Amino acid sequence: MQSLSDRLFQANSLFSPYAVPHGGGLGRAFPESEDRTRFPFQRDRDRIIHTQAFRRLKHKTQVFVSGLPAVALAKAGHGDHYRTRITHTLEVAQISRDIARTLGLNEDLAEAIALAHDLGHTPFGHAGEEAMNACMQSCGRMFEHNDQSLRIVTLLEDRSANYRGLNLSKEILEGLMKHRPSPRAAGLRSASRALSLEAQLVNLADEIAYTAHDTDDGLRAGLFTLKQVRETKLGFLAAEKSMERKTELRGAIVDLLVTDLYTETDMLLEKHAVSSLEDVYASQHDLVSFSETMTKDLSELPTFLWNHLYKSDAVQVQAKQGQRVIRDLFSAYLKTPPEKVLELQQKTGGALEEAIKDYIAGMTDPYALQMHTLIV
Ligand code: MG
Repeated sequence: MQSLSDRLFQANSLFSPYAVPHGGGLGRAFPESEDRTRFPFQRDRDRIIHTQAFRRLKHKTQVFVSGLPAVALAKAGHGDHYRTRITHTLEVAQISRDIARTLGLNEDLAEAIALAHDLGHTPFGHAGEEAMNACMQSCGRMFEHNDQSLRIVTLLEDRSANYRGLNLSKEILEGLMKHRPSPRAAGLRSASRALSLEAQLVNLADEIAYTAHDTDDGLRAGLFTLKQVRETKLGFLAAEKSMERKTELRGAIVDLLVTDLYTETDMLLEKHAVSSLEDVYASQHDLVSFSETMTKDLSELPTFLWNHLYKSDAVQVQAKQGQRVIRDLFSAYLKTPPEKVLELQQKTGGALEEAIKDYIAGMTDPYALQMHTLIV
């Protein structure tokens, strides 16, 4: 077997000069000795996969709530084929790896960020997040899922007696901060350092994945037709491509978006004379991006999905029920905190409402519904 340092040298030599090399450079909050066989970002990925928060993603809503009765879904077929938060996450990780590999970037870093990017989601999807944010705002606080993802990997998950959280490489934590420094993130990321290309590409892979699979799920549920999708620019181009290739629409959407991303990103890296990781960190511009035309074409599809999918009766009925569950649990636990909440509060040393938020946000859809039956 080759030594780790030989493998590290070999693997890094395959990267573009602006990739984050294996071994990173920013380190971990709690210094650890190197693993004998895995590079640091590969260890990070494995730690993320083995968390409880990751396993719970399988029963968290992406768009459709599997645990609630819904006439439209019953009519449309078996609910098992709709995306959940975990299959969404796996699709984002797959697209991220492909983009990273093609651009000569660090696949393992991109994959680890992708696998952790939605850990902080509440039950019941974005509707759940809105309800949780409203509950927290009534206590003068806030909730945002990216911030919660960071809280999970830096505080709530346990794996060692030496430190809190997972002690991930700082490159992963920065990647989870996405667009803006949150109150929790402010101390972690240097204000002057931009996101790595690996972190930037995961943000777009997320957008590519949900645009493609939400269109697929919406068609499956019969909430709109292919003819309607074709009325959007991207939908039209993808439908043409899918006919030409004789393959599914979802893949054609992904193909169009990643192909555009490659051309635009190459152009931007050249335009801004990016030739090292330092250049990336110092850049004031988004360097991984869709072209202006594609950004415009792409923007029609989310609007279409918003009107036909997210705002559809089938999804809204579930969303409203989910929001009620979160509100009811929150106010019941404020009056009488259950044992689990008190344990969390003791562990994190924060306010009661923070611990209630951590507990409820961590729940799966069916678990939240089950807990709701105990309080009403
Ligand atoms: Mg996502």
